[in-house]
Amino acid sequence: MENKIIPYTMLSEALNSTQELIERILPEYGMPSLRIGLEKINSVLDDYLQKAQEGFPIVGYHFAFPGEYLQCYDCVPVCLEASGYFLATLLLHGVEKYYDLIANFGHPYHTCSAQKASMAFTLDDLFRFDAIITPTAPCDSTCASYPFFRYEGKFPLIIADLPFRFDEKGYEYYGNQLKLSLTKLGKEIGQEPDYKKLKMALELENKTNKLQLEIFELAKTIPSPIENMYNAVSAATAILIPGTIEKYEFYKEMLEIAKYRYRKKVHHGGEEHIRSIWPYMLTFFDISLCEYLDRELGMSILFDIFNYNFSDPINTRSDLNTMFYDMAKKGMGWPMVKQSIEFYYPFINDCVRFAKEFSADCFIFTQSLACKQFGTVPQLLKEALKEIGVPMLIIEFDVGDARMTSLATMKEKIKMFSQTLL
Ligand code: SF4
Repeated sequence: MENKIIPYTMLSEALNSTQELIERILPEYGMPSLRIGLEKINSVLDDYLQKAQEGFPIVGYHFAFPGEYLQCYDCVPVCLEASGYFLATLLLHGVEKYYDLIANFGHPYHTCSAQKASMAFTLDDLFRFDAIITPTAPCDSTCASYPFFRYEGKFPLIIADLPFRFDEKGYEYYGNQLKLSLTKLGKEIGQEPDYKKLKMALELENKTNKLQLEIFELAKTIPSPIENMYNAVSAATAILIPGTIEKYEFYKEMLEIAKYRYRKKVHHGGEEHIRSIWPYMLTFFDISLCEYLDRELGMSILFDIFNYNFSDPINTRSDLNTMFYDMAKKGMGWPMVKQSIEFYYPFINDCVRFAKEFSADCFIFTQSLACKQFGTVPQLLKEALKEIGVPMLIIEFDVGDARMTSLATMKEKIKMFSQTLL
């Protein structure tokens, strides 16, 4: 049977060799998040690849659509953004040749690299989806890029319309949109939604979120018991393997490690000198930056955008409408979706509150060229944080493409900034 998800095969092979390196090179307790996370992700990817071989429908989804919602179908869920970004992390030269491929096709260079790699994979016939599902979120870049999959890839594209209002009416509307779009998806792949299976996945996610929240709370302590790498690996597990027991196990094991470090007051990198919050993204083109900051600068990354968005547990015991209402609330509180609401006042308020609650010494804001909707926010946030005495460094970059701001430049900027803090 033809392989319709070659990038996932590439990812699985890259994960295998990275895992082998970790086993051979790292000391037994070195970077546990990487060791545990890659093992869990690999196990789920193997399962997905097996199912793809057996002919299960391949459903692409935007990372802003919580992937566990797809568990009402027997399908292979493939996150378009995670495919590109985690290959950018694991392959020697990332996915630069795919960024160039889609640029040569005529796609504007200033759009988000989150979608660009998967667009190029499609152009190169490496991805063949039976359907793709996406919300109209979190940004213009996403909304302008996804029609490519319909018109060039010829894949059925199902869109859940996200309202502007983030209140009861908005949640009702989006809950309805989720239900409609999942029903449409079922028609495309010839299946009826299995709500029992969906409930089980949601309940597992409720339990997983509780663990994530406990880890988040532990990051308030000094020194932080969370290694920087945890943030990157957690982002990967959250969007690549949602609703799985492996994801739950990853956070369970990480929580135990964080509790141990908390009790012993130990820091992964030796000594913690600076506590930083990254309200947007880390560098996915090279996650070794996390380890460099921990070990060379003693700078903790308390959390990044994928690790501070929490929502109430989804009520699966009531009627379907209540469940979809809660699913909508969760989806609208998702990383980048939540930050794009209103005129960024909630985002700025959250950041000021976090700065105080987590005893942050500084913020590092990575501004992506593609995030047009966010272009004006860093300066406003910088001014708000200045009022409470917390400095912020702004670095313009492309999260997946090292050619815009290299790792060396990132390190240099952060090192110089850190000298102003000590
Ligand atoms: S990084 Fe910015 S442009 Fe890319 S998907 Fe997120 S919000 Fe959109």
